[in-house]
This record gives sequence, C-alpha cells and structure tokens, in this order.
Amino acid sequence: MNIHEYQGKSILKKFGVVVPEGFVADSPDKAVEMAKVLNQKTATKFWVIKAQVHAGGRGKGGGVKLAKSLDEVHNITKQIIGMRLVTPQTSAKGKLVQRVLVQQDVYYPGASEIQEFYISVLLNRQTGRNMIVYSPQGGMDIEYVAEETPELIFKEEINPAVGILPFQCQKVAYNFGLEGKAFKMMVKFVEALYKAYVGSDASLFEINPVVKTSDDQIMAVDAKVAVDNNALFRHCDIAEMRDLNEEDPIEVEASKFDLNYVKLDGNVGCMVNGAGLAMATMDIIKLSGGEPANFLDVGGSADAKRVEEAFRIILKDPNVEAILVNIFGGIVRCDRVAAGVIEAVKSIDELDIPLIVRLQGTNAEEAKILIDESGMKVQSAIALEDAAKLVTEVLK
Ligand code: GDP
Ligand code: MG
Repeated sequence: MNIHEYQGKSILKKFGVVVPEGFVADSPDKAVEMAKVLNQKTATKFWVIKAQVHAGGRGKGGGVKLAKSLDEVHNITKQIIGMRLVTPQTSAKGKLVQRVLVQQDVYYPGASEIQEFYISVLLNRQTGRNMIVYSPQGGMDIEYVAEETPELIFKEEINPAVGILPFQCQKVAYNFGLEGKAFKMMVKFVEALYKAYVGSDASLFEINPVVKTSDDQIMAVDAKVAVDNNALFRHCDIAEMRDLNEEDPIEVEASKFDLNYVKLDGNVGCMVNGAGLAMATMDIIKLSGGEPANFLDVGGSADAKRVEEAFRIILKDPNVEAILVNIFGGIVRCDRVAAGVIEAVKSIDELDIPLIVRLQGTNAEEAKILIDESGMKVQSAIALEDAAKLVTEVLK
C-alpha cells in the first residue's frame, strides 16, 4: 500500500528522522492559516506547497511550488487543488489533487549552499536482504543518474541477523563527502531512516532529496513510502492511512469480495483460480496475440457466488471484449464450477461478449458437456492453448 508524503513524514518523525515542519490543507484559506502557524513555529519566511498524490515527479508536473508570501500561498494552493497533475509517473490523464502539504521552506536564505542527496531503503529480492541505495546526486533526476552515471549510485546491504551497523551509516555519510556536524547528523539520519523502514514493515522508503541545509542540518524533504499490505494488521495507525481515492475503483470493489484483481490495459478479461495459473493464462493469451485486461484470481473456492462477483468485476472494465474462464478443478469439481458459470451468466443480462470456458481436472468431461448443452453463447475448450486461440479468433 502506498501512502501520501505527509503521512510518510509522520512515520519518519516518530522514528526520529528530521523532516521539515508542515501541515496538510484542503483549501487555499486553510493553507494560509497553516502557513501562518508555520511562520510562528519555525520563523520561516517562505513555504513550499506540495500536491499530495501517490506519484513521484510532482515538481516536474507543477505540483511543487515555492510561495514567498501569504498571497502566493493562497494562489498556488488554489491552482494546485483540483488540478489533474500529470507527472512522469502518472498516466496521461494524471491524478486529481485533493490536498496539499504546506511546508516550511528549508532552502533559504542559504539556498546556494544546499546539497541534495538520494537515499532509499528497500528489499533486494535477489539476496532477500534490505538494502540502502544512495547517491550524492539527489534531486529530481535520479533515473537519469542511474542510467548515465551508474557509478554514482551506491548500495549497502543489511544483514538481517544484526541489523544496520554504525560503520554502514558512516560509509553513507563518507560517500556523500560530508564532514564534522553534517557527517554526524547524516549517520543519525540513516540509522533512524532504517529503523522507520523496519519498524513500519515498509517495502520502500525513498527520500529524494535528503537535504543538507546551510547550517548543516540533514532533513528528509520528500518521502515516497510503500508498506507491506500483509503486515498492516499490526499497524492499525498506518492501515488508516489508506486513501481509496488513489486506487483503481474496480480494484477496491474486488478487494471487498476478497478477489485478487489487478487491472491491466488489454481487452481479454481473465477469470482464473490460483495465482500461478492466472500468470500462465495471461502469458498464453499474449502468446496467441491477445492482451489480458486483468489479472484475476478467484481463489480456491470458485463457487457460483464468487464466479458471479468476478464476472461483474471483469465487466466493469469497458475495455473487455471477451472473457476467458480458466479453472482447474483440484479440490473443487469442474462440473460444480460449470454449473456456477452457467448460473452466473444467466443472472447477468448484460453479458453480450464472447465467453470461452476451459475447465480442467476432476470431472472436466462432465463440465464440458454441461456447458455445451447449456444453450448459452459459451464456447468451451479443454486445452489451454485451444482456449487462448478461441479467444483471439472471436476478437478478430
Ligand atoms: P517530487 O518532484 O514529487 O519528487 O517532489 P519533491 O518533494 O522532491 O520536490 C521537488 C523539488 O522541489 C525538490 O527537488 C526541491 O528542489 C524543491 N523543494 C522541495 N522542498 C523545498 C523547499 O523547502 N524549499 C525550496 N526552495 N525548494 C524545495
Ligand atoms: Mg522527490
């Protein structure tokens, strides 16, 4: 689950990572009110207004702006809230901005001495260990740095048995070329950041930029945070940070029925039991020239009710032009599933697109007969390859 920058920063703060002071606002008046509070609290002369959406690269899309007066705070907030922010990480439609973070400016008056670094903590799936990826070339173009000058991207792996060690934090500060107070502050920063990552069961903490201010403070100016959904049960406070506005509405609907659904861009709706079979089904659809419209795992108990909900969810996607049902009857018997499919199709009157069903496993033959004799516009196949070919044929 992804969370907003302001929420990520509240976690960072809890673990002792220094972040600039800021408040979230949902209107220009509220933003001005918060800017005044920030001025009293921190004596800041300027403020940064930052669009809160689940996407990076906001600065490039006009979603992060410096305000030098309360009038500017008002005007910039008015401009940003309600806009569809398009960044290199969103689709062309962009994301609707509903809130901004009004934050103390930490660059001025010593803006020319500011240094911007990149630090992220994430899991290295190859080694199964957490690692810190960092670069002295922080700021807005880290992807470009990784491509053009990969030698400026450093990695530090953490042994899970002992956790992060002091020398590893010192190495980061050293590679950033820091000295004196800034060096010490960076060591503390890295240690606290790693604690925040582990302590919140996160899968990503990406801080870009980490800033060294003119008075040698080290701060997290940005925060992109993702947490592991499977651990949310032990972080009720983080679970509450979920923002359904940021998620695909069909995926939200599917999660209500415990269906594992991920929307994709193709035109063949897939209903499958088991994640592995779902992946294989998507592969074979692509191999025969089609494009899957979704990943959908109805789970082990593919009864009529679940099959029907899954149909409804697939049909909510206007791009779907054909549906392929591919169910393996291991524990569940194929004839039962076939009966479920027939029932579901009958109860959905708007099913006017081709439906191809492939049931394999226990009682597969009986299932095929049931479907062929149901009198519906359903085509059945026994081999997966045949099923995929049928799909591409009907789409032609
Ligand atoms: P992103 O574009 O979504 O990654 O958003 P960031 O939070 O990284 O902000 C983008 C850029 O805005 C940063 O790289 C900074 O250059 C600038 N910025 C962020 N905070 C401040 C601030 O407090 N003062 C000033 N002057 N600029 C800031
Ligand atoms: Mg950033």
